[in-house]
Amino acid sequence: MYDVLNDSVLQKISEIADAEGVQAFVIGGFVRDIFLRRHNNDIDIVTLGNGIDLAEKTAHAISPKLTVSVFKNFGTAMFRYNGMEYEFVGARKESYSHDSRKPHVEAGTLEEDQNRRDFTINALALSLNKENFAELLDPFNGLQDMNDKIIRTPLDPALTFSDDPLRMMRAVRFAAQLDFTIEEKTFEGIRQMKERISIVSMERIIDEFNKIMMTEKPSRGIVLLDKAGLLELIFPELSKLKGVEVINGCGHKDNFLHTLQVLDNVAEKSDNLWLRWTALLHDIGKPRTKKFSETIGWTFYGHEIVGSRMVPDIFRRLKLPMNEKLKYVQKLVLLHLRPIALVDEEVSDSAVRRLLFDASDDIDDLMLLCEADITSKNEIKVKTFLQNFQLVREKLKIVEEKDALRNWQPPITGEEIIETFHIQPSKEVGIIKLAIREAILDGVIGNNHDEAFAFMLEKGKELGLAK
Ligand code: ATP
Ligand code: MG
Repeated sequence: MYDVLNDSVLQKISEIADAEGVQAFVIGGFVRDIFLRRHNNDIDIVTLGNGIDLAEKTAHAISPKLTVSVFKNFGTAMFRYNGMEYEFVGARKESYSHDSRKPHVEAGTLEEDQNRRDFTINALALSLNKENFAELLDPFNGLQDMNDKIIRTPLDPALTFSDDPLRMMRAVRFAAQLDFTIEEKTFEGIRQMKERISIVSMERIIDEFNKIMMTEKPSRGIVLLDKAGLLELIFPELSKLKGVEVINGCGHKDNFLHTLQVLDNVAEKSDNLWLRWTALLHDIGKPRTKKFSETIGWTFYGHEIVGSRMVPDIFRRLKLPMNEKLKYVQKLVLLHLRPIALVDEEVSDSAVRRLLFDASDDIDDLMLLCEADITSKNEIKVKTFLQNFQLVREKLKIVEEKDALRNWQPPITGEEIIETFHIQPSKEVGIIKLAIREAILDGVIGNNHDEAFAFMLEKGKELGLAK
């Protein structure tokens, strides 16, 4: 099990620590992952001496060319070797002030260093010195908790979470990643301290949230965030999807549970974080568009439009990237109902063409999202829907082969229009370009230069332009 300790760098650290007469340990996530048989590239070394010194001496012994990054302010140093990252620090104890998650730090014993760790399973240390090489130091029974699949804080939960509220997110993230349970008192501590999340930067929160999004079954983590009362604080729009309203005995589905199901369905098929985000946000506009009508019951007309308009504000607040990832999520949220409209037998080629044009390279992701969106409990219904989507996929394929509309480039450029009619760049150029595009999408002309050119001449004539 300790095969990983044969690592040449760890052996070197062992030698040098002995030669220097200091104690050194591997600690934290790397040790945890040895027992969980998970791969981990980050090795944290803690020494009862000077961490920077040990890092520099080790690096030099491995190769004089190895560069060490030193963070003097933090008393830490790290280097990379053979795809692994080694981080060194002196054992420390921490004390916190109320308004910051940055502790006051001073040198401490190994036990004090273990006390400041977030969870029992993250507090394990393995000795590296020769006389007790690979000895496990496990003051909080982290090994037992690992066997029992439990997340528990080493010290008083309320204090642990109040000191550094990011740990609340980490608790949920580890529970979600490892499929562990958060021990009752620990969970109570989170519920009690949830408001403290306000001192954590959104970047750190969303970093953990995205790790939850990337787990095998993201709903698990999100349900925990909700139960802890954290979801409402960090992501109120999502919380608002919860619940079922009933009027005249007529209820709608719980959009929160539905959304989580769609998210899990997508997660089963794709590792794309942003497609998962699309699943999470696809119905985000529903609370704002919800209406009850005596004749048809509950409706959410336009929720895809309202939802896609909400996405930029959500991304901005959650400190998610305001770039093409945002555009992608916005686009898929906006289009998520379109493939359903293509299920009809006698749907026109034109509608298929327009969807291909609008979704472009993201059409496969869109289809995956739509299939994941079918969460009916009625198996026959689900089967029928999926078969229908299969037909849509076939229609898309046929039209695509015929018309090559992905990443569509206009067959006639603005320059060609200008040259042909000897005009200046003007409104007319735009009108003609748009008319050509519409004609292609409507199937009036083919997606090729010859037909587009003839069409342009005709359109120019209509506009009073001479060749
Ligand atoms: P992963 O690398 O998968 O995110 P990890 O447990 O290695 O998990 P890191 O953030 O790399 O997490 O931290 C390494 C170790 O440092 C942890 O195992 C834990 O002992 C300690 N640690 C990290 N963040 C905190 C924190 N906010 N509070 C207390 N201890 C922490
Ligand atoms: Mg780590």
